[in-house]
Amino acid sequence: MHVNAVSYHSILKELRPNGAVLVAVSKTKPIEAISELYEMGQRDFGENYVQELLSKQEALPADIRWHFIGHLQSNKVKYIAPFIYLVHGVDSLKLLKEISRQAVRQDRTIKVLLQVHIATEETKFGLNEEELKEIMLLHQTEPLQGIEIRGLMGMASFSEDPDLVRSEFLMLKRLFNMFFNPENHILSMGMSGDYRIALESGSNMVRIGSLIFGNRN
Ligand SMILES: *Cc1c(COP(=O)(O)O)cnc(C)c1O
Repeated sequence: MHVNAVSYHSILKELRPNGAVLVAVSKTKPIEAISELYEMGQRDFGENYVQELLSKQEALPADIRWHFIGHLQSNKVKYIAPFIYLVHGVDSLKLLKEISRQAVRQDRTIKVLLQVHIATEETKFGLNEEELKEIMLLHQTEPLQGIEIRGLMGMASFSEDPDLVRSEFLMLKRLFNMFFNPENHILSMGMSGDYRIALESGSNMVRIGSLIFGNRN
């Protein structure tokens, strides 16, 4: 037993009124854990490390939608370009251009989310508001080939203070509203510890690991 089925089903139920999508974050978890959840109907899985993702993708059913949610290095894009469903953490023009280049090589369109830095913590990756606007403007005037910017992604501070977390999510939602709309686009925010606040703040895609698979070592 690798999956907390009760927790999984109660999360799905909570997401339903918002029409939000669950990405099951399976990083560091074995193939068997993913298979178990797959058997329950889950198709969207999130991974953070390229090597780990590649070995899992090879071993598991082809209809899994793999989300790359970690910090992607430009020199690793080529490995996941043939199959990746959605890249969540795009935080530079350099990376976006490399994804475009590899998408063209693979003759496919790769969907991405731009990651915005919303946390007060310094360690988290992401674009600031100015950088986000620059990239959106550039892409609107001179679209990068093979790229579809589907929306935004962000991570709130790791904090016990719900008001702080909420204010960070609402800031992301405000930026999201400038360029996207919730009917057609993706706002990826919310993890095990803060997904309820994220949903209240307008998230329509949550990335949840430990509540489903148990704590990671
Ligand atoms: C690990 C991770 C998650 C899931 O974290 P949990 O707290 O286990 O739900 C979500 N998003 C990103 C970017 C992660 O790295």
